[in-house]
Amino acid sequence: MKSSIRLAKIFGIPLELHISFLFILPVFIWIFAFNLPPWGFGNLPEPLNYIYSTVATLLLFTSILIHEIAHSLVALKKGVKIRSITLMLFGGVASMEDIPEDPKSEALISSSGPLTSFSLALAFYFLHLFTSPLENLFYFLFIVNLALALFNLIPAFPMDGGRILRAIFASRMPFLEATKKAAEIGKLIAIFMAFFGLFYNLWLFVIAFFIYIGASEEERATAMTSLFEGLRIRDIMTENVSMVSPDLSVEELLFKMFEEKHMGYPVIQEGRLVGVVTLEDVRKVPTERRRDVKIYEIMSRDVMVASPDDPLSLIVKKMSETGVGRVPVVENGKVIGIVTRTDILRSLQLLTEMRRR
Ligand SMILES: [Zn+2]
Repeated sequence: MKSSIRLAKIFGIPLELHISFLFILPVFIWIFAFNLPPWGFGNLPEPLNYIYSTVATLLLFTSILIHEIAHSLVALKKGVKIRSITLMLFGGVASMEDIPEDPKSEALISSSGPLTSFSLALAFYFLHLFTSPLENLFYFLFIVNLALALFNLIPAFPMDGGRILRAIFASRMPFLEATKKAAEIGKLIAIFMAFFGLFYNLWLFVIAFFIYIGASEEERATAMTSLFEGLRIRDIMTENVSMVSPDLSVEELLFKMFEEKHMGYPVIQEGRLVGVVTLEDVRKVPTERRRDVKIYEIMSRDVMVASPDDPLSLIVKKMSETGVGRVPVVENGKVIGIVTRTDILRSLQLLTEMRRR
């Protein structure tokens, strides 16, 4: 499922817009056009308030973007790969390829965002002092950047503050334990915020809800990663992979699937992996055409592969992000195994049982 639109590349990092962002943009412009200062331009006469709030909204999201770029650049410097930056409903997200487990790196990466927002706030504050016609606009940007910095410093996942807190804990205890402790504090803060929000501000209540979910998610993801720690693809992959040739007809493929009870196959031509074909691809071919259509016409050629020495946690993360259910394992150009979601679920259940002791 694709819910983001690719915009451009900044420092080699793809910048994406989440669909929610396109809906929220006009809403923000509308809100800021009628809010009274410092949270809007409702004091200005009619076309002017819209113009100001449009410019302000665009600059607000530019500020959020700069915040995320700051995270990304520090992460890159610390050797952590950034897959993309996505602008969405509640700000931005820079998705990192891996959580930096070195507490110092995580602390630096996490604090770079709020620090940048503080600097932007300071810059806009000075600008507002010297430019009287645009004073309103700059004061607004000062306020929102300050809010952005403070909001992100709330010590709860998924905010930067939660990560900084974990880094502080992680410098004196194992990473998993540190995550648990930080997540618990985050949940506590969320509950507190929700209570407060219920009586004073419903927005706060909604945000608290997201914080609670974020804290639980982070805890779960980290627990899973550490359960898989030390395991490689080789340890859980299914060897003796059944493969198909691209010239097989869809009908023959369907018989093979039924016989072997597999839902998908790597497609091999002259010993090389050329694609993957699944039951879903078969479903798209009308019944009366299944005798004539060949596998190479329906297979997906853009195949995600794994190396047998890849850490298991990496492929689990990639599979859950892309929704891909089976990944061929390739060594020296040859398919030597396959990892499916079922393989992973099974090993997860067994590992949980074994580590319970
Ligand atoms: Zn941030």
